[in-house]
Amino acid sequence: MSADRIHYTLPSITELEIRYVEDAIRHGWGERCYEYIQRFEAAFAKHLGVPYAIATSSCTGALHMGMAALGIAAGDEVILADTNWIASAAPITYLGAKPVFVDVLPDSWCLDPARVEAAITPATKAILAVHLYGNLCNMDALLDIGARHGIPVIEDAAEALGSSLRGAAAGAMGAFGTFSFHGTKTLTTGEGGMFITQDRALYERVLTLSNHGRAAGQARQFWPDLLGFKYKMSNLQAAVGCAQVERLDELIAAKRRVFMAYRERLADLPLTMNPEGAEQRNGFWMPTIVVDEGVRFDREALLAAFRADRIDGRVFFWPLSQLPMFTPRPENRVAYGLPARALNLPSYHDLGEAQIERVVAHVRSAIR
Ligand SMILES: *Cc1c(COP(=O)(O)O)cnc(C)c1O
Repeated sequence: MSADRIHYTLPSITELEIRYVEDAIRHGWGERCYEYIQRFEAAFAKHLGVPYAIATSSCTGALHMGMAALGIAAGDEVILADTNWIASAAPITYLGAKPVFVDVLPDSWCLDPARVEAAITPATKAILAVHLYGNLCNMDALLDIGARHGIPVIEDAAEALGSSLRGAAAGAMGAFGTFSFHGTKTLTTGEGGMFITQDRALYERVLTLSNHGRAAGQARQFWPDLLGFKYKMSNLQAAVGCAQVERLDELIAAKRRVFMAYRERLADLPLTMNPEGAEQRNGFWMPTIVVDEGVRFDREALLAAFRADRIDGRVFFWPLSQLPMFTPRPENRVAYGLPARALNLPSYHDLGEAQIERVVAHVRSAIR
């Protein structure tokens, strides 16, 4: 009984990443100190099909700067889904604005457009679409609502690298998009993030903000024109990113393979998994099961069975409004009802068939 531990995520690292990092640490200094950063930004932007990208130290930082550049400030409101990780909501509060949590759809676990529209007030300054676990928000509906009310839709695509709608990448459809390269994400730089946009003026504002407020054309040295931020990615991390982005199609294909293997083996059970709608492609960052309502299922018992067999299980996101720093919104019935019936399954790129079988066996006996 000494089965290998099954981690819920692990990065996929090859000789290419190691070679680039070695080159960066040996030679990436002096006039070459931004070389990998610029290469990574250009390659990432090209992959996503957008003209502008700015590498950051985290997705949280990218969101903070992007929302600051949109002018979001004290007293403003930003609408987002109650089902989310805190990193999407925290930057709203850094600006003194208020996150407004609305309910999610039962199939995508993402923003319910009808609830978004009902939550709009004169103080609403943005709609934050987070593509949860790779699942796409209903961007057609959200962009339409945004256009009708004159409110920008912004995208947190940290979990949706590889997801797209009619060929448009998640993160490239709204006013701006952000990504995370934390060690658990599809593409990693250890820690890191990216801001992308098609809007040149917004790009230039974020570029200035990301350089401690120093404008690109400012001739005077050490002369910030406004108060900015310091959320830069290092050249060493960008070297890892350059290798990962060269391998991005392969990384996404591996995540999709893992998801399909689970879906096939769990197809006969009373549960749903991440959807992939018509005209959509899902990057399947995190395979998730949601057991049908009314079916007997003890999430804690399944997690305990996983632990005993050295498998990492991950609980579905709690509604953010349930956390101590926010005001409860139990009227968000879908968001409040999901966690007890749901679980994320291990999904790193190199997860083998035998390991998938081991996870599936536990899921099957928990639901039978
Ligand atoms: C991981 C994640 C973040 C946070 O990313 P960091 O790079 O750790 O700041 C933000 N939003 C979502 C949806 C995430 O999954």
